[in-house]
Amino acid sequence: MQDWVKTVPKAVLHDHLDGGLRVETLIELANEQNYQNLPSTSHDELKKWIQPKPDKSLAINLGAWEHTIGVMQDEDSIYRVTMEALEDLSNDGVVYAELRFAPLVHTLKGLTTNEIINSVVNGIKDGMEKYDIVAGVILCAMRQEQNSLEVVNLCIENSDVIGFDLAGPEVGFSVLNHGEACALAVENNINVTLHADWEVAEGIKEVVIDSKARRVGHGSQIINDISLNGDKISFQSSAAKYVFDNNIPLEICPTSNVQCGAYSNVSEHSFGALFNAGFNVTINTDNRLMSDISMSEEVNNVVESFGLDEKDILSITKNTIKAGFVNTELKNKALEKVSTL
Ligand SMILES: [Zn+2]
Repeated sequence: MQDWVKTVPKAVLHDHLDGGLRVETLIELANEQNYQNLPSTSHDELKKWIQPKPDKSLAINLGAWEHTIGVMQDEDSIYRVTMEALEDLSNDGVVYAELRFAPLVHTLKGLTTNEIINSVVNGIKDGMEKYDIVAGVILCAMRQEQNSLEVVNLCIENSDVIGFDLAGPEVGFSVLNHGEACALAVENNINVTLHADWEVAEGIKEVVIDSKARRVGHGSQIINDISLNGDKISFQSSAAKYVFDNNIPLEICPTSNVQCGAYSNVSEHSFGALFNAGFNVTINTDNRLMSDISMSEEVNNVVESFGLDEKDILSITKNTIKAGFVNTELKNKALEKVSTL
Protein backbone atom coordinates (compact mmCIF):
# COMPACT_ATOMS: atom_id res chain seq x y z
CA MET A 1 0.00 0.00 0.00
CA GLN A 2 1.30 3.46 -0.84
CA ASP A 3 1.97 5.52 2.33
CA TRP A 4 -0.32 8.39 1.39
CA VAL A 5 -3.37 6.11 1.17
CA LYS A 6 -3.23 5.41 4.89
CA THR A 7 -2.88 9.07 5.88
CA VAL A 8 -5.03 10.84 3.26
CA PRO A 9 -8.36 11.97 4.79
CA LYS A 10 -11.06 9.47 3.89
CA ALA A 11 -14.84 9.45 4.31
CA VAL A 12 -17.22 6.50 4.45
CA LEU A 13 -21.01 6.61 4.07
CA HIS A 14 -21.83 2.91 4.02
CA ASP A 15 -20.49 0.87 6.94
CA HIS A 16 -22.69 -1.57 8.87
CA LEU A 17 -22.10 -1.37 12.63
CA ASP A 18 -22.82 -5.09 13.14
CA GLY A 19 -20.54 -5.93 10.20
CA GLY A 20 -17.49 -4.15 11.58
CA LEU A 21 -16.69 -5.65 14.98
CA ARG A 22 -13.13 -6.55 15.92
CA VAL A 23 -12.71 -10.34 16.12
CA GLU A 24 -11.30 -10.03 19.65
CA THR A 25 -14.30 -7.97 20.74
CA LEU A 26 -16.69 -10.60 19.41
CA ILE A 27 -14.86 -13.23 21.50
CA GLU A 28 -14.66 -11.04 24.62
CA LEU A 29 -18.34 -10.08 24.49
CA ALA A 30 -19.32 -13.73 23.98
CA ASN A 31 -17.23 -14.73 27.03
CA GLU A 32 -18.66 -11.95 29.20
CA GLN A 33 -22.21 -12.84 28.24
CA ASN A 34 -21.77 -16.60 28.35
CA TYR A 35 -22.82 -16.64 24.68
CA GLN A 36 -22.15 -20.23 23.64
CA ASN A 37 -22.85 -20.19 19.91
CA LEU A 38 -19.55 -18.96 18.44
CA PRO A 39 -18.06 -21.63 16.16
CA SER A 40 -14.68 -21.01 17.85
CA THR A 41 -13.26 -18.86 20.62
CA SER A 42 -9.79 -18.89 19.12
CA HIS A 43 -9.05 -15.57 17.41
CA ASP A 44 -7.44 -17.11 14.34
CA GLU A 45 -10.00 -19.86 13.90
CA LEU A 46 -12.95 -17.51 14.31
CA LYS A 47 -11.40 -15.00 11.92
CA LYS A 48 -10.91 -17.78 9.37
CA TRP A 49 -14.51 -18.97 9.84
CA ILE A 50 -15.96 -15.46 9.32
CA GLN A 51 -13.80 -14.35 6.50
CA PRO A 52 -14.65 -14.58 2.80
CA LYS A 53 -13.70 -17.78 1.05
CA PRO A 54 -12.15 -16.87 -2.30
CA ASP A 55 -13.08 -20.22 -3.86
CA LYS A 56 -16.84 -19.62 -3.52
CA SER A 57 -18.96 -17.42 -5.72
CA LEU A 58 -20.96 -16.12 -2.76
CA ALA A 59 -18.15 -15.79 -0.28
CA ILE A 60 -19.72 -13.50 2.33
CA ASN A 61 -20.54 -15.55 5.38
CA LEU A 62 -24.14 -14.64 6.21
CA GLY A 63 -24.00 -16.79 9.38
CA ALA A 64 -21.51 -14.36 10.93
CA TRP A 65 -24.22 -11.74 11.54
CA GLU A 66 -26.08 -14.10 13.84
CA HIS A 67 -23.08 -13.89 16.19
CA THR A 68 -22.27 -10.19 15.92
CA ILE A 69 -25.93 -9.34 16.53
CA GLY A 70 -26.08 -12.11 19.15
CA VAL A 71 -23.53 -10.33 21.37
CA MET A 72 -24.96 -6.83 20.78
CA GLN A 73 -28.06 -7.20 22.97
CA ASP A 74 -27.17 -4.93 25.89
CA GLU A 75 -26.35 -1.24 26.10
CA ASP A 76 -22.68 -1.59 27.11
CA SER A 77 -21.89 -3.96 24.24
CA ILE A 78 -23.61 -1.81 21.63
CA TYR A 79 -21.84 1.30 22.98
CA ARG A 80 -18.47 -0.48 22.98
CA VAL A 81 -18.86 -1.68 19.38
CA THR A 82 -19.79 1.85 18.27
CA MET A 83 -16.83 3.44 20.05
CA GLU A 84 -14.43 0.86 18.66
CA ALA A 85 -15.75 1.39 15.13
CA LEU A 86 -14.96 5.10 15.37
CA GLU A 87 -11.56 4.39 16.95
CA ASP A 88 -10.62 1.96 14.16
CA LEU A 89 -11.88 4.25 11.40
CA SER A 90 -10.12 7.28 12.86
CA ASN A 91 -6.83 5.35 13.20
CA ASP A 92 -7.24 4.45 9.54
CA GLY A 93 -7.39 8.10 8.43
CA VAL A 94 -11.19 8.35 8.18
CA VAL A 95 -12.38 11.87 9.06
CA TYR A 96 -16.08 11.34 8.34
CA ALA A 97 -18.09 8.16 8.97
CA GLU A 98 -21.74 7.18 8.81
CA LEU A 99 -22.52 3.93 10.60
CA ARG A 100 -25.78 2.11 10.01
CA PHE A 101 -27.62 -0.64 11.82
CA ALA A 102 -31.05 -2.22 12.23
CA PRO A 103 -32.29 -1.33 15.74
CA LEU A 104 -35.10 -3.89 15.85
CA VAL A 105 -32.73 -6.89 15.78
CA HIS A 106 -31.16 -5.85 19.10
CA THR A 107 -34.24 -6.46 21.25
CA LEU A 108 -33.63 -10.17 21.94
CA LYS A 109 -32.78 -9.57 25.62
CA GLY A 110 -35.48 -7.00 26.22
CA LEU A 111 -33.79 -3.69 25.37
CA THR A 112 -36.21 -1.02 24.23
CA THR A 113 -35.64 0.61 20.86
CA ASN A 114 -34.76 3.88 22.57
CA GLU A 115 -32.16 2.16 24.77
CA ILE A 116 -30.67 0.57 21.65
CA ILE A 117 -30.56 3.79 19.64
CA ASN A 118 -29.23 5.80 22.58
CA SER A 119 -26.40 3.29 23.07
CA VAL A 120 -25.24 3.94 19.50
CA VAL A 121 -25.89 7.69 19.67
CA ASN A 122 -23.88 7.94 22.91
CA GLY A 123 -21.08 5.92 21.33
CA ILE A 124 -21.10 8.26 18.34
CA LYS A 125 -21.03 11.39 20.52
CA ASP A 126 -18.25 10.11 22.80
CA GLY A 127 -16.33 8.58 19.89
CA MET A 128 -16.44 11.82 17.89
CA GLU A 129 -14.87 13.65 20.80
CA LYS A 130 -12.33 11.02 21.79
CA TYR A 131 -11.16 10.05 18.30
CA ASP A 132 -11.50 13.38 16.50
CA ILE A 133 -13.83 12.14 13.79
CA VAL A 134 -17.21 13.37 12.55
CA ALA A 135 -19.86 10.65 12.54
CA GLY A 136 -23.56 9.89 12.44
CA VAL A 137 -25.94 6.95 12.55
CA ILE A 138 -28.48 5.72 10.01
CA LEU A 139 -31.28 3.32 11.02
CA CYS A 140 -31.99 0.36 8.73
CA ALA A 141 -35.18 -1.56 8.25
CA MET A 142 -34.97 -4.94 6.54
CA ARG A 143 -36.63 -5.47 3.17
CA GLN A 144 -37.85 -8.94 4.14
CA GLU A 145 -39.56 -7.66 7.31
CA GLN A 146 -42.77 -5.67 7.68
CA ASN A 147 -41.62 -3.11 10.23
CA SER A 148 -40.15 -0.33 8.12
CA LEU A 149 -42.79 2.16 9.28
CA GLU A 150 -41.74 1.58 12.87
CA VAL A 151 -38.11 2.25 11.94
CA VAL A 152 -39.00 5.47 10.09
CA ASN A 153 -40.92 6.59 13.17
CA LEU A 154 -37.80 5.92 15.27
CA CYS A 155 -35.85 8.16 12.86
CA ILE A 156 -38.47 10.87 13.30
CA GLU A 157 -38.51 10.56 17.11
CA ASN A 158 -34.72 10.50 17.54
CA SER A 159 -33.26 13.76 16.30
CA ASP A 160 -29.72 12.40 16.62
CA VAL A 161 -30.41 9.83 13.90
CA ILE A 162 -29.31 11.17 10.51
CA GLY A 163 -31.09 8.91 8.04
CA PHE A 164 -33.15 5.88 7.04
CA ASP A 165 -32.10 2.85 4.95
CA LEU A 166 -33.59 -0.40 3.72
CA ALA A 167 -31.14 -3.31 3.80
CA GLY A 168 -31.49 -7.07 3.37
CA PRO A 169 -32.16 -9.36 0.41
CA GLU A 170 -33.31 -7.60 -2.76
CA VAL A 171 -34.48 -10.38 -5.05
CA GLY A 172 -38.15 -10.92 -4.22
CA PHE A 173 -38.17 -8.12 -1.63
CA SER A 174 -38.68 -4.88 -3.54
CA VAL A 175 -38.35 -1.50 -1.82
CA LEU A 176 -41.76 -0.77 -3.34
CA ASN A 177 -43.23 -2.99 -0.59
CA HIS A 178 -42.10 -0.22 1.76
CA GLY A 179 -43.65 2.69 -0.13
CA GLU A 180 -45.54 3.97 2.89
CA ALA A 181 -42.41 4.03 5.06
CA CYS A 182 -40.32 5.78 2.41
CA ALA A 183 -43.05 8.36 1.81
CA LEU A 184 -43.34 9.03 5.55
CA ALA A 185 -39.57 9.52 5.75
CA VAL A 186 -39.54 11.96 2.82
CA GLU A 187 -42.56 13.86 4.22
CA ASN A 188 -40.75 14.30 7.52
CA ASN A 189 -37.52 15.40 5.91
CA ILE A 190 -35.65 12.26 6.97
CA ASN A 191 -32.63 11.62 4.75
CA VAL A 192 -33.16 8.42 2.81
CA THR A 193 -30.51 6.15 1.31
CA LEU A 194 -31.62 2.74 0.09
CA HIS A 195 -29.66 -0.35 -0.85
CA ALA A 196 -29.85 -1.12 -4.58
CA ASP A 197 -27.22 -3.68 -5.32
CA TRP A 198 -26.48 -5.48 -8.58
CA GLU A 199 -29.05 -8.28 -8.50
CA VAL A 200 -32.17 -6.32 -9.46
CA ALA A 201 -31.90 -4.44 -12.76
CA GLU A 202 -34.68 -1.94 -11.94
CA GLY A 203 -33.28 -1.38 -8.42
CA ILE A 204 -31.92 2.11 -9.09
CA LYS A 205 -35.22 3.35 -10.51
CA GLU A 206 -37.18 1.95 -7.56
CA VAL A 207 -34.80 3.64 -5.15
CA VAL A 208 -34.25 7.11 -6.60
CA ILE A 209 -37.40 7.74 -8.65
CA ASP A 210 -40.13 5.71 -6.90
CA SER A 211 -38.83 6.02 -3.34
CA LYS A 212 -37.05 9.40 -3.64
CA ALA A 213 -33.84 8.27 -1.95
CA ARG A 214 -31.16 10.94 -1.85
CA ARG A 215 -28.37 8.39 -2.17
CA VAL A 216 -28.03 4.85 -3.47
CA GLY A 217 -26.51 2.06 -1.36
CA HIS A 218 -24.12 0.37 -3.84
CA GLY A 219 -25.58 1.23 -7.26
CA SER A 220 -22.62 0.01 -9.33
CA GLN A 221 -24.99 -1.73 -11.78
CA ILE A 222 -25.93 1.68 -13.17
CA ILE A 223 -23.10 0.99 -15.63
CA ASN A 224 -25.57 -1.29 -17.48
CA ASP A 225 -27.87 1.69 -18.15
CA ILE A 226 -25.31 3.95 -19.77
CA SER A 227 -22.98 3.83 -22.73
CA LEU A 228 -19.73 5.67 -22.95
CA ASN A 229 -18.16 6.84 -26.14
CA GLY A 230 -15.05 8.84 -25.38
CA ASP A 231 -16.25 11.82 -23.34
CA LYS A 232 -19.82 11.34 -24.43
CA ILE A 233 -22.28 9.57 -22.16
CA SER A 234 -25.70 8.36 -23.24
CA PHE A 235 -28.41 6.92 -21.03
CA GLN A 236 -30.53 3.82 -21.57
CA SER A 237 -32.79 4.54 -18.61
CA SER A 238 -34.37 7.66 -17.17
CA ALA A 239 -33.16 6.58 -13.72
CA ALA A 240 -29.52 6.58 -14.82
CA LYS A 241 -29.98 10.03 -16.37
CA TYR A 242 -31.66 11.25 -13.19
CA VAL A 243 -28.78 9.97 -11.04
CA PHE A 244 -26.21 11.63 -13.30
CA ASP A 245 -28.06 14.93 -13.76
CA ASN A 246 -28.80 15.28 -10.05
CA ASN A 247 -25.35 14.19 -8.91
CA ILE A 248 -26.93 11.49 -6.70
CA PRO A 249 -24.15 9.93 -4.61
CA LEU A 250 -23.49 6.22 -5.17
CA GLU A 251 -22.24 4.39 -2.08
CA ILE A 252 -19.98 1.98 -3.95
CA CYS A 253 -18.59 -0.96 -1.95
CA PRO A 254 -16.06 -2.56 -4.31
CA THR A 255 -14.73 -5.39 -2.13
CA SER A 256 -18.18 -6.40 -0.90
CA ASN A 257 -19.43 -6.50 -4.52
CA VAL A 258 -16.51 -8.71 -5.55
CA GLN A 259 -17.11 -11.08 -2.64
CA CYS A 260 -20.79 -11.35 -3.50
CA GLY A 261 -19.88 -12.41 -7.01
CA ALA A 262 -20.83 -9.25 -8.93
CA TYR A 263 -17.28 -8.79 -10.26
CA SER A 264 -14.33 -11.15 -10.43
CA ASN A 265 -11.97 -8.57 -8.89
CA VAL A 266 -11.87 -4.85 -8.10
CA SER A 267 -10.20 -3.97 -11.41
CA GLU A 268 -13.27 -5.39 -13.20
CA HIS A 269 -15.57 -3.20 -11.08
CA SER A 270 -17.56 -0.40 -12.72
CA PHE A 271 -16.15 2.13 -10.22
CA GLY A 272 -13.40 3.32 -12.59
CA ALA A 273 -15.75 3.87 -15.54
CA LEU A 274 -18.34 5.63 -13.35
CA PHE A 275 -15.68 7.86 -11.81
CA ASN A 276 -14.29 8.80 -15.22
CA ALA A 277 -17.80 9.44 -16.56
CA GLY A 278 -18.41 11.96 -13.79
CA PHE A 279 -20.83 10.07 -11.53
CA ASN A 280 -20.76 11.06 -7.85
CA VAL A 281 -19.01 7.90 -6.65
CA THR A 282 -17.95 7.29 -3.05
CA ILE A 283 -15.79 4.44 -1.70
CA ASN A 284 -17.18 2.31 1.12
CA THR A 285 -16.32 -0.72 3.23
CA ASP A 286 -19.83 -2.14 3.78
CA ASN A 287 -18.72 -4.74 6.38
CA ARG A 288 -15.17 -4.41 7.64
CA LEU A 289 -15.26 -7.65 9.62
CA MET A 290 -17.07 -9.93 7.18
CA SER A 291 -15.15 -8.61 4.18
CA ASP A 292 -11.83 -8.46 6.06
CA ILE A 293 -11.25 -4.97 4.71
CA SER A 294 -10.26 -1.57 6.08
CA MET A 295 -11.04 1.78 4.49
CA SER A 296 -7.36 2.24 3.53
CA GLU A 297 -7.30 -1.16 1.86
CA GLU A 298 -10.55 -0.37 0.05
CA VAL A 299 -9.16 2.96 -1.20
CA ASN A 300 -5.85 1.33 -2.10
CA ASN A 301 -7.60 -1.30 -4.23
CA VAL A 302 -9.41 1.45 -6.13
CA VAL A 303 -6.23 3.52 -6.50
CA GLU A 304 -4.25 0.59 -7.86
CA SER A 305 -7.03 -0.71 -10.10
CA PHE A 306 -7.94 2.58 -11.75
CA GLY A 307 -4.78 4.69 -11.44
CA LEU A 308 -6.25 7.31 -9.11
CA ASP A 309 -3.90 9.67 -7.29
CA GLU A 310 -4.00 11.56 -4.00
CA LYS A 311 -5.80 14.50 -5.59
CA ASP A 312 -8.53 12.20 -6.89
CA ILE A 313 -9.04 10.65 -3.44
CA LEU A 314 -9.11 14.07 -1.77
CA SER A 315 -11.75 15.14 -4.24
CA ILE A 316 -13.78 11.96 -3.58
CA THR A 317 -13.44 12.54 0.17
CA LYS A 318 -14.78 16.10 -0.18
CA ASN A 319 -17.70 14.97 -2.33
CA THR A 320 -18.42 12.15 0.11
CA ILE A 321 -18.59 14.52 3.08
CA LYS A 322 -20.81 16.87 1.08
CA ALA A 323 -23.10 13.89 0.39
CA GLY A 324 -23.25 13.17 4.13
CA PHE A 325 -26.44 13.34 6.18
CA VAL A 326 -25.05 15.14 9.27
CA ASN A 327 -25.84 18.83 9.79
CA THR A 328 -23.93 21.53 7.94
CA GLU A 329 -21.88 22.55 10.97
CA LEU A 330 -20.51 19.02 11.41
CA LYS A 331 -19.97 18.61 7.69
CA ASN A 332 -17.92 21.79 7.62
CA LYS A 333 -15.88 20.53 10.56
CA ALA A 334 -15.00 17.40 8.56
CA LEU A 335 -14.39 19.39 5.38
CA GLU A 336 -11.90 21.62 7.21
CA LYS A 337 -9.66 18.61 7.70
CA VAL A 338 -9.59 18.02 3.98
CA SER A 339 -9.22 21.57 2.76
CA THR A 340 -6.43 22.67 5.10
CA LEU A 341 -4.06 20.15 3.50
ZN1 LIG B 1 -24.82 -2.47 2.95
